[in-house]
Amino acid sequence: MAELIYDQTGRLLFTEEMRKEYTLLIPMMLPIHFELLTNIFRKHNFNVELLKTTGKSIVNEGLKNVHNDTCYPALLVIGQLIEALKSGKYDTNKVALLMSQTGGGCRASNYVHLLRKALKKNNMEHIPVVSMNVSSMEKNPGFKLTVGLSADLAVAVCYGDMLMSLSNQTRPYEIEKGETDELIAWYIKELCENGLSFAKYRKYIRQMVKDFSAIPAYRTPKVKVGIVGEIYIKYAPLGNNSLENFLQSEDVEVIVPGLLDFIMFMSDHHAADTRLFEINKKKGYLSSITESLLKRLQRMQIRAVKGSVFTPQCEFEHKKSLINGYVSEANKMGEGWLLTAEMLELIDSGVDNIICTQPFGCLPNHIVGKGMIRKIRTAHENANIVAIDYDPGATQVNQENRIRLMLAIAKKRLDKSMPNGPQDYKIPKKVSQEADNNENMGVLIQ
Ligand code: SF4
Repeated sequence: MAELIYDQTGRLLFTEEMRKEYTLLIPMMLPIHFELLTNIFRKHNFNVELLKTTGKSIVNEGLKNVHNDTCYPALLVIGQLIEALKSGKYDTNKVALLMSQTGGGCRASNYVHLLRKALKKNNMEHIPVVSMNVSSMEKNPGFKLTVGLSADLAVAVCYGDMLMSLSNQTRPYEIEKGETDELIAWYIKELCENGLSFAKYRKYIRQMVKDFSAIPAYRTPKVKVGIVGEIYIKYAPLGNNSLENFLQSEDVEVIVPGLLDFIMFMSDHHAADTRLFEINKKKGYLSSITESLLKRLQRMQIRAVKGSVFTPQCEFEHKKSLINGYVSEANKMGEGWLLTAEMLELIDSGVDNIICTQPFGCLPNHIVGKGMIRKIRTAHENANIVAIDYDPGATQVNQENRIRLMLAIAKKRLDKSMPNGPQDYKIPKKVSQEADNNENMGVLIQ
C-alpha cells in the first residue's frame, strides 16, 4: 500500500506512487462524453473507472451521507461514490475518488469537502479525494492538469458534443431502430482507439456528419424540446430520471446544449471580471486565450455541420449576446447567465418548447432559470417553458405529468401547423436548399 502523505492543512494527498497503483473512480454525468474523457485519462497513464451504477439505492446512500438540504447533484455524486466503495468491488486501500471543483462562488466548490466528510463518517478517511479544477484550489503530486491533458480533454468534450447533437437529431427519425446507438458505440470505440487527439479532430467530426447523415431516416416533423438547467441535472440520467429517454418515448426530438458552452462560460469568468470590474487582469488575459482556442474548436464543429441536414450548434458569442436586456454577464453563480442564454437561444432557433431542470437546493439557477421564465414569455409569447424540480422526494410520475402538459401544447401547435398531416409541413427554405446541395445526406425528407 502506498504511503499516506498529508499536506500542511491535514489533507490527504494523491501521490505519484498512488497514480501507479490506485484506481480513480469517476462519478457519471454525461454517458457519451464521460466514456471519452475516461479514455483520455487512460491515455495519460491514470487507472480510472467510470461508475455506471444507477437506481434509488444511490439516492438513499446520498441521504445517509450528506445533509438533506445539500444540493441534489452533490447528494447523488457522493451517494454514487460511497455506494461503489461499499460494494466490495474495490480494494479500498488502492482506490481514490475524482471529483470536479468549479472554483466559483457556488457550492460546487465544496463538494470535495462534503465527500471527505462522508468518507470519515464511513471510516474511509484513508481514501484520497482528488479535486479536478483549473483554479489552483487543491494540488496533488499525482494528478496534474497539464496542458497536454487539458487539450485532449477539450477535444473529447467536443467529440462528445458532436455525437450527442447528431444522434439526438437522428434517433427520432431513424427507420431501423437502434442504428443511431450502434453508430455512437462504434464511434466511442474508434475514437478511444485511434482518434482522441486534436490532430485527427477535423477528420473525425466531418466523418461523423457523413455517417449520421447516411442513416436512413424519415424526417417527418416532430415536436422539438430543449433541455436546459443546472449542469448535472440537465445531463445526468441519474439526476433527471432519464429525461431524454422519457422524451424519446413521447416521440420528441430532444435538443441538449453542448458541454463545451459550459466550459467556455467558466473560462469567461475572469475575462468578464477584467472587462466589468478591472480586476483579475492576468487571469483575465489567460482565460481569453483559453476561450479563443475553445471557440476555434466550436467553429470547426459548426463548419462541419453546416450544409448538412443537421442543425449546427450556436456560436458561444451569439448565445451570449442574447442575454442583453435579461441578465448581466456578471451573473456567474451556478450556470449564471448561460442558463438564460440557453433558453433564449433555443427560442431564437425556433425551438419554443423548453424544460428547465432545477435541482433542490440550487438558489442561483432558480434565479437565472425559473426566475427568468416570465420575462422570456413576455418577450416571446410562443415560449412554452416548464420548470421541473428534482430532489430525493420528487416523484417521477409527477415530473412526467407536468412535462406531458407542456408536450400537449407543443403537439397541438405542431398539428395546427399541418391541418392535413405531415404533407402540409413546409421544410424551411434554408434546409431544403442545403438538402439539395448535399450529396451525402442519404435521408428521406418529407
Ligand atoms: S449550481 Fe446549484 S446545484 Fe450546483 S453547486 Fe450551485 S447551488 Fe448547488
